[in-house]
Amino acid sequence: MLGLQQRLSKKTIIGKRMRLEDKMTSNLSLTAKETLKEKYRKERQKRLRSDGNEQYLELKDQLAYFLDDPYQDIAERESVRDDVKFTFIGGGFAGLVVGARLSEVGLNSIRIVEKGGDFGGTWYWNRYPGAQCDTASMVYMPLLEETGHMPTEKYVHGPEILRHCQRIGQQYGLYKNALFHTQVIHVEWLEDKKRWLIKTNRNDEFTSQFLGMGTGPLHVPKLPGIPGIESFGGHSFHTSRWDYAYTGGKPGNGELKNLRNKRVAIIGTGATAVQCVPHLSRSCQQLFVFQRTPSSVDVRNNEAIDPSWFKKISTPGWQQVWLDNFTANQTGAEASDDLVKDGWTEISKRVREKVMNLSKEDRIPEKMWEAYEDADFEKMSEIRARVDSIVSDSETSEGLKAWYGQLCKRPCFHDAYLQSFNNPSTHLIHTDGKGVERITEKGVVFDGDEYSVDCIIFASGFEVGTPLQRRTGFDPKGKSGKRLSDHWADGMRTLHGLQVADFPNSFIVQATQGANLISNYPHNLGDSAKTIASIISHMIKNESRVVEVMTEAEEKWVQLIMSGPGLMLGSQDCTPGYYNNEGIDPGPSRKSFVGYPYGPVAFFDYISEWRNSGTFSGLHFT
Ligand code: NDP
Repeated sequence: MLGLQQRLSKKTIIGKRMRLEDKMTSNLSLTAKETLKEKYRKERQKRLRSDGNEQYLELKDQLAYFLDDPYQDIAERESVRDDVKFTFIGGGFAGLVVGARLSEVGLNSIRIVEKGGDFGGTWYWNRYPGAQCDTASMVYMPLLEETGHMPTEKYVHGPEILRHCQRIGQQYGLYKNALFHTQVIHVEWLEDKKRWLIKTNRNDEFTSQFLGMGTGPLHVPKLPGIPGIESFGGHSFHTSRWDYAYTGGKPGNGELKNLRNKRVAIIGTGATAVQCVPHLSRSCQQLFVFQRTPSSVDVRNNEAIDPSWFKKISTPGWQQVWLDNFTANQTGAEASDDLVKDGWTEISKRVREKVMNLSKEDRIPEKMWEAYEDADFEKMSEIRARVDSIVSDSETSEGLKAWYGQLCKRPCFHDAYLQSFNNPSTHLIHTDGKGVERITEKGVVFDGDEYSVDCIIFASGFEVGTPLQRRTGFDPKGKSGKRLSDHWADGMRTLHGLQVADFPNSFIVQATQGANLISNYPHNLGDSAKTIASIISHMIKNESRVVEVMTEAEEKWVQLIMSGPGLMLGSQDCTPGYYNNEGIDPGPSRKSFVGYPYGPVAFFDYISEWRNSGTFSGLHFT
């Protein structure tokens, strides 16, 4: 397969149309940049709406069935009444890595409570065809070294990741105490007992010395608030509850046989749609892709992993080396080599090269920002040119071009998505920022045209900016009955993004106010698991029962976090989406979007030193 650069130059040589912007960004004159910026502004303006997150529908009442588990029946079981050492809410990567690290330090009474019917979290629910990790498996899949698993591909598919989650659960004995298909509804600190009280929707009521929460940033599916959505008479489902009984086929890469005689609409063109559209395109009689904003889709170049190569590189400590190397390369820090070498690390490599080309005197924030912008304009122009080089119909090709900075939305990488639009039975319905107009009993309406379909698939994403307790279904009560929502009334407050004052013996495992490394989310989780294990190991050695964050330490940490440059990803200049709270200033919630001001590499260094020092400054043990 030709590289992108080669294909682009080939295209120019054969004299195909060269677009205005290709010329503009080759030397990035000031006027050219202004023209592009203006185009980006206009595109953003088209999409801004005052209802922000409110435009989406919560899946409750008559829409609650969208949340049903299509993969596994709910098994009857007795309610649980006991006491455990550690309870973790959420059985995805966060719960699994924390469980693994805790069992390594000798804490064996661990209970994971999970809404799904097994471990896996995202990978339990998202079984849509083509689901695959977007970040290289070698750094994305946790505990590869500990489990001895070799990923089969540079970017493995969903079923392999789900099996890996189950492997971790088995290896670390996490199935024994786990409660599946169970939702926590009440969490309360009992000061007299120094225990957390936990209640669930399966009538469980038990206590736990420690509490961990890893409910994931994107786990509650949402539907677009399209008028008439309830009136559709055909079949419909959300991509995170893929209905294989209806479509035929199975998770992975197979054909969806039952769709051969079906007209299908998919609404949404984010990272999920980019992965499943090629499969739908191959299987459906007619496929209508309803797009509000195009994704940026760069080259994927997936390949099988060679076992003899893997054997050679998997020397002790290899995965940490890869993790650190990816993070350094991806975030523009010092790195001698690029082990992963993909679209993620390329983004930063380009910026770094531009910055390195600046004279010493010019390495000031404004010039560095300009260098970042130049690199981004160039990259996005290449991505838009890639659309032209693949999609034969010029109107469709124009519609598939993303007019925003690459990190405004989740960057996508795929080698079959754009090609799908050359398939005569696949139709792009580009709504140019407006979105679907209406849904009727028969189908989907845009611009006055009704597209009658048998099935609507919602690739409309997950709730992000909505209140935390709406997404988790509980609002923890800490010391003196204080609610977490009250503690965070003026925005999120933590020490290291992990612990909260007045909520003793508890840990929130997520990325913000910590490394905030979006390109490889599991790295954040794995590192937090190490921090938790070292705190608990320290407590076991010193026979402490309770660990609390000192209020001043929390306050100082929040001040430090807020002193940084703020939200880089999806800034307020970007096209709306969940990265930037749908383009609406999040107010105090801004605190839950930001990370350590000096970047992920500096955070991982800082926290590693903090936990290894053994002093655990900012914490109080009794
Ligand atoms: P997204 O939130 O990224 O996409 C939702 C889509 O629905 C957008 O294209 C949105 O358009 C569109 N939409 C919303 N309302 C309407 C409407 N009224 N009419 C038409 N279209 C509409 O959800 P995804 O599930 O695609 O991805 C969520 C996240 O999950 C990703 O960003 C990524 O972090 C993660 N993910 C990771 C993967 C991996 O690692 N392998 C794979 C897939 C997802 P608009 O852009 O205009 O808002």
